[in-house]
Order: sequence, then structure tokens, then C-alpha cells
Amino acid sequence: MSRKHFKYIYGPVSSWRFGSSLGIDLLSQGEKVCSFDCLYCQLGKTKALRTKRKLYVPTKKVIQEIKALPGVQIDYITFSGRGDPTLAKNLGEVIKAIKKLRKEPIAVLTNSSLIYKKEVRAELALADLVAFKLDADSEKLLELINRPAKEIKFNNILKGIRQFRKTYRGKLALQIMLMQENKETVKNIAKLAKTIQADEIQLCAPVRPAQVLPLSRRTISALKRHFRGMKAISLYDVKRKKIRPINTKDTNLRRSNALNGG
Ligand code: SF4
Repeated sequence: MSRKHFKYIYGPVSSWRFGSSLGIDLLSQGEKVCSFDCLYCQLGKTKALRTKRKLYVPTKKVIQEIKALPGVQIDYITFSGRGDPTLAKNLGEVIKAIKKLRKEPIAVLTNSSLIYKKEVRAELALADLVAFKLDADSEKLLELINRPAKEIKFNNILKGIRQFRKTYRGKLALQIMLMQENKETVKNIAKLAKTIQADEIQLCAPVRPAQVLPLSRRTISALKRHFRGMKAISLYDVKRKKIRPINTKDTNLRRSNALNGG
């Protein structure tokens, strides 16, 4: 398989959170598939909010690509891409299949919306690292920033993450997009993060063009102080590695969103 023929895997990208990160997009090659319509999303507006899990890309096809990977250095195999990976019904199945073939740790970046579902918690537990989006401290702010499907409720997200933490032995990270809209609430989000007992706090900013402007580096480092006593990193703390991706065009398509915490 030549470099340009990869359809479902992309990168590796140089990620400030995951080093050399090979991306897997279980959702699609085309339109975004998401339960949120975040203000800062790089993929444009979510045309139809989705909450029903279904099969988008057959496991066999992803595994064929994994088997055909050229010799590239990978720190993490990361499920992310054009939407929320937990909407893919075969997420757990693909994680299991990759674990049989590769030694690298597996990360999943999720918007947290479906963590209230038992089957999603069981599938995410197969990963070595799960990064949950937590941009809000209330239903009201979730609606303002993430604009979720109507059945997604803030309390269920929080409850789901807490329940997951009780038994999860991997690394649990919280990814928080900092912006004007939640600047005043970061203190409360930090309190929630403490009660969740996250292993790492990832402070993100919408650095690619979006409907919202990023806060300054100075403001972000001031906000970071709220997370004292926890391991918190921001996108400004880490120097990125230079990495050559296996497919530049498709990588750029998904990478911009992963950078913005999508
Ligand atoms: S940023 Fe991520 S979670 Fe938010 S709408 Fe875009 S793809 Fe969905």
C-alpha cells in the first residue's frame, strides 16, 4: 500500500499531548459525525447532531491499513478525526484488534457525550489513555460552548466520567478548551477536575481559525494556576517534534480538529 492510499489512518502528527501520534478515524472520509457542535470546531457546523452509535468503517479495512503501515515512529495510536470516535460502534473491536498487532499505547480523544452509556465505558476501558473533553461546569455553559444534541446532559457526562474513573486503570486526561466563554469558570472546572481525580489536565486553545479567538499565552498561563496540585499542561508548554506523515492531505483534514481538541 503506497503512502497515499491510507483512508482511515493518518499522520503520524506531531502532537503536543501525544508526541508522534498516528491517528485513526473510524467515522468517515466526508462529513463530520458528532453529537456536539462546538463553537470552536475546525470542521465547520455539525449539520445533523448524532448520538446513535453505528458502524461507519469496517474493522477489517482499518486493520488492513494498520498491517500495511510503513516503518514510522509512533508514540501513541490515537482515535480522533472527523467527529467523536465513541459514535463508532466498533471502537472496542478495533482497539482489541490493534492491540494484537502493535505495541504502542492507544489513546482515545472523546467529547465525553456518550460516557453515560455502559457499553461506551467498557470499550474506552480497553484504551491506555482516554482524554475527555470538559469545557464547561454546567448545563448552561455546555449548551453555549458545545451545543450538544438534546439528549446529552451535563450531569450525565460528569456522572459517566466519575463512574469510569472508579475502575479505569489507564491514564485519564481531561481536555479543556480555554476561551473567553469559559474564562471566568475555569476555577469551577478545576474543582471538578480535582474531584474526578484526572491524571492529567490538557489545557487547549483554538489555535486554528474558528468562531472563537484563542486567549493569550499569558492568560492561559494565569488560568493554569487554578490547577495547582494537579498535573496540568498547556499547548504552550511543549515543543513539538518534526514528523513526516504517511498521507499529508488526509492528515491535514483531520489534524486541525484534533489540534483544537476535537
Ligand atoms: S470540536 Fe470535536 S466534539 Fe466539538 S463539534 Fe467538532 S468534532 Fe465534535
